[in-house]
Amino acid sequence: MKLGIPAIATGDMFRNISKKDSKFGQEIMKYIKNGELVPDAIVINVLRKRLSRDDCRRGFILDGYPRTIKQAKVLEGLAEINAIILLQVPEWIVIERLSSRRICRTCGEVYNIRFLRPKKKGTCDKCGGVLYQRIDDSPKVIGERLTIYEKNMEPLLAFYNGKVPFIKYSSNSIDTPPGVAVAEILQGLKKLKLS
Ligand code: AMP
Repeated sequence: MKLGIPAIATGDMFRNISKKDSKFGQEIMKYIKNGELVPDAIVINVLRKRLSRDDCRRGFILDGYPRTIKQAKVLEGLAEINAIILLQVPEWIVIERLSSRRICRTCGEVYNIRFLRPKKKGTCDKCGGVLYQRIDDSPKVIGERLTIYEKNMEPLLAFYNGKVPFIKYSSNSIDTPPGVAVAEILQGLKKLKLS
């Protein structure tokens, strides 16, 4: 928590819901497993509830939201958006990195079996938790997710263009450590007087 505000990843929220042995959990799992977007009505309901919590009063970072124009429009009514962080990486790097990504089941720390290996195979350096591969990080589902991303990103960028400042981070290198991107993004936030 470098900025003292919560980082809210809608994907994490949906993965948690999908673990529950309920009808709703099973429904969400169906979308995640196939790399499809969860319908807007559900996403908006979940996000609205999360943003109404006390810890969001001083601000928040959204990760993975908005993914559609409808979601962007709803967000406008819920909060003021101060900046958009745009990560620009060639598609082949995205595919390589997602397919070798591993995540700690306990603390959520992210590793990569090719570029950011844990000291002990399958075990989190930070908490000793077990590492797992996301169900949607398979080549077929990654392809599906990227197709949806390509389709939705352009209208979203047009929607925000000129309205909200962008902090752009680009990389053409497959093994850039996460800290490099974080440092550059923090600089961008500082320039906008947001950190
Ligand atoms: P992510 O962790 O951001 O890659 O999201 C994983 C999956 O969760 C996506 O492929 C969707 O199925 C679902 N999801 C996460 N955020 C959204 C969103 N804003 N709108 C629709 N579906 C979402």
